[in-house]
Amino acid sequence: MNRSHGHYCGHCHRILANEKFTGRGHAKHVCKQCTSAIGAERRARSKFEVKNN
Ligand SMILES: [Zn+2]
Repeated sequence: MNRSHGHYCGHCHRILANEKFTGRGHAKHVCKQCTSAIGAERRARSKFEVKNN
């Protein structure tokens, strides 16, 4: 079995190296690439979202 450190991205459904995840991405199981994709999507829809931070 491949036990090299990897992390599953629940957004693109792939196992990627830990370095592909940010600290926050790790917690959310979303890789950097998907995090920025989601961020861009969020920004486009931010009219309908309330900022909590
Ligand atoms: Zn991903």
